Amino acid sequence: MSDTLSLEERRAALEQIAQEIRACQACPLHSARTRVVPGAGRPDAEILFIGEAPGYHEDQQGLPFVGASGKYLGELLAMIGLTRNDVFITNVVKCRPPGNRDPLPTEIDTCVKTYLNRQIEIIRPKIIVTLGRFSMALFFPPTARITKVHGQPRRADGRIYYPVFHPAAVLRNMNLRPAMEADFRRMLDLLKEVEATSNNTHDEPPPKQLSLF
Ligand code: SF4
Repeated sequence: MSDTLSLEERRAALEQIAQEIRACQACPLHSARTRVVPGAGRPDAEILFIGEAPGYHEDQQGLPFVGASGKYLGELLAMIGLTRNDVFITNVVKCRPPGNRDPLPTEIDTCVKTYLNRQIEIIRPKIIVTLGRFSMALFFPPTARITKVHGQPRRADGRIYYPVFHPAAVLRNMNLRPAMEADFRRMLDLLKEVEATSNNTHDEPPPKQLSLF
């Protein structure tokens, strides 16, 4: 469906979703938020980054990954020649959990089914990079552990799912930094793979609806 949408139509469709998110009270996370964080970036991005949830700074500004972990994510993107404007960045849930607690399964289920799935359908990314275990759990088996599967692409639904650590986890444990940087460098090979198959994009089946629980 969205393969036939122009860039402007995708932008408008994403803005429509953002407006719905601004008014959303579908789960308990709405009550403590300052601002919603729908996501930001290129509406037809080849790479979609999905983090966990907005933190303090994101909640204040309404933008994803603007704190220390966002600065580090920007550095990782620059390392492989990309900027935020080349990709789309969002989170599993669009409102900050109080005190930065983990989002609950029902909150994740509601937000993903209502918003993230639709964002994916509009953007149609060729690579979905999951940042941390919560977004990894949307696309990988429950037995998958981030310490074991990070940097290992999974090809399904006509795209690549690519799990990496959450930048905040790397900032808390600098021993993870070499692995994180290696995983980002490998993204260049995945991009080349995507470009090699880009001529076939119109023949791909639509992505599956995500089923969480
Ligand atoms: S987290 Fe998602 S589902 Fe819950 S209130 Fe916010 S936008 Fe709505």
